[in-house]
Amino acid sequence: MMALMPELPEVEAVRRRIAPAMRGARIEHVLLRRKDLRRPFPRAFAARLEGRRIRSVDRRGKYLLVALDSGATLLMHLGMSGSFRIDRGSKRRTPDAEAAGDRHDHVVFTLSNGVTVTFNDPRRFGLMDLLGDRPAASQKTFAALGPEPLGASFDAAALAQALTGKRIALKVALLDQRVVAGVGNIYASEALHRAGLSPLRRSSTLATAAGRPAQKAVRLAAAIKTVLREAIARKERSYRAGRFRVYEREGEPCRTAGCGGRIRRIAQAGRSTFYCPACQR
Ligand SMILES: [Zn+2]
Repeated sequence: MMALMPELPEVEAVRRRIAPAMRGARIEHVLLRRKDLRRPFPRAFAARLEGRRIRSVDRRGKYLLVALDSGATLLMHLGMSGSFRIDRGSKRRTPDAEAAGDRHDHVVFTLSNGVTVTFNDPRRFGLMDLLGDRPAASQKTFAALGPEPLGASFDAAALAQALTGKRIALKVALLDQRVVAGVGNIYASEALHRAGLSPLRRSSTLATAAGRPAQKAVRLAAAIKTVLREAIARKERSYRAGRFRVYEREGEPCRTAGCGGRIRRIAQAGRSTFYCPACQR
């Protein structure tokens, strides 16, 4: 099957796996095998990380945020194919031995607790940057991120406000990280199916003329939260297309009780959308 780009649930699963291994440890060594991923690493990247203690590992949208005792924050994005490998104790390798490893192992963090965290990214659309004392390339994008969908600040009112007056298709609007952070191609399709809303619907129809939420916005905000929560609960298994409601299910019967429709695939803004024309209006 095609590679699936990580969205909020996949990034959250990664966070839950790497946080216990990294939190509280000091970064002893950072090995950079290249000068860049999607973008160049920031100046003096390794030097600004080495010797720093890790306070916390958090997530915002699809970004991982590693807070350091220097006050700076290491920002990481998995891109399309990024992943982390954790090696402990006896499996720990020296930087020299590490240099002979997988050619897609681009960044290796050696920690004071005996853990080695390796970032592997065959397609190199991943990103690492430092937010803090100096201007960072990612600062602007990061600051413009919309509400966190599982947070209290994201509800029907916030969604309606973000969609007011927007003429673009609802599915396309949901991919805009300024509307809601962390939702991508898969979970936009999933949430729209759950809410019974067509991906082709004009975004502005979810708000009244005054920008208040229509009933459809209430349904969609709740559906977004539910599909993300369910996917997080499934963790890694969420990568299996068999678990999705509509994603990668073209031609299959709709799962909505009593619907009888079949899932259709269309292209919107260059991306595949999966939906049921019978029950999504
Ligand atoms: Zn249906």
